Amino acid sequence: VSGKTIEGTCIVCRRQIAVRATKTGKPPVGAKVLRWYGGLKPSHLLVHHGYQRPGIGCIVGDCFAVGMPPHELSPVTAEEYRKFCRKCKLDQQAYKERLQAGEVDLLYRTEKVPVPTTAERMLWARSDPGWTEAEVAYRSTESDPKRQEVFVKLVAEAIVRCDQMISFYEMDIATMDEAIKTWKLDDLREREEPVPDPNRRRRRRFFRGGRL
Ligand SMILES: [Zn+2]
Repeated sequence: VSGKTIEGTCIVCRRQIAVRATKTGKPPVGAKVLRWYGGLKPSHLLVHHGYQRPGIGCIVGDCFAVGMPPHELSPVTAEEYRKFCRKCKLDQQAYKERLQAGEVDLLYRTEKVPVPTTAERMLWARSDPGWTEAEVAYRSTESDPKRQEVFVKLVAEAIVRCDQMISFYEMDIATMDEAIKTWKLDDLREREEPVPDPNRRRRRRFFRGGRL
């Protein structure tokens, strides 16, 4: 027994994502469809999926392209994402300039801070109940030289992070440039999806209920 899933390319994740087929004309469940693109039907929009940045692989919430057309059907997702990346890059550049000009006067550092506890504490335990992680604020106006030194270091680190973010956005913009330039209408693919055998499922339930 098998079912068919229609899938297309999410240009943001650069991987294959299912497109939801709906007959009702309503947006796919979980898709934040704000508007239709070029007369495309909801059945031709990418389903809800988490974003995995290519190369890094960590999930950072919903993908930008959820509810938008797969790349085969329209370059609009690539265009919208490029727009988004350009804006993010400008924001990062502006923030970097503020950091360099000494205009940012509040930064945070994740630190281990002691908490009052009567819980038993083991020397080599993975988590010590006597400590927790907190975001500690540092200001440009610190009077204590040690804290002032930390603030200066945080500014330098924030600038490095800005540069990293700017280069990530530049890479994504370049990828979208290429995807838009080479875009042509293409077919979506069908993927055979194994469907759980209802008989097997019933047997498992019988075992669980009868034996355990
Ligand atoms: Zn995606």
